[in-house]
Amino acid sequence: MQAYRKRAKRGFSLVELLAVVLVLAVLAAVAIPLYISQRKSAAARSCKANIAAIAAAESAWALREGAYTTTIADLVGAQEGLAKTPTCPLDGDAYTLATDADGNLTISCGNAADHAASLGAAADYSMTLTKPGKDTLP
Ligand SMILES: [Zn+2]
Repeated sequence: MQAYRKRAKRGFSLVELLAVVLVLAVLAAVAIPLYISQRKSAAARSCKANIAAIAAAESAWALREGAYTTTIADLVGAQEGLAKTPTCPLDGDAYTLATDADGNLTISCGNAADHAASLGAAADYSMTLTKPGKDTLP
């Protein structure tokens, strides 16, 4: 009996270890999905900010050149342009720039449906800039 008590004081019993493992498993089951969801909504917010930055750089480009460019590389390093090529933070995909027949530019992310699943609507992840007008200042 004496030997058993001595040995029992040295460590944890199996039941105690199982209880700790169970608590850790419950915490992980709650925390991991929450973490993944937060990562996706952060990527969606960041994607919206990237699209807005591309739109601002395109507006500055159009002010100088008279039309939008569909090549993001033109904007990188340009005056009032972008410091580096922006990519969608979800998977690193490039943004799509397309001009229509009227000269309007649409900036869009290919992951719009994935972003909309975590934040906002798919339409929030594309932006259309109307054709730059002529300077009306005297
Ligand atoms: Zn995106």
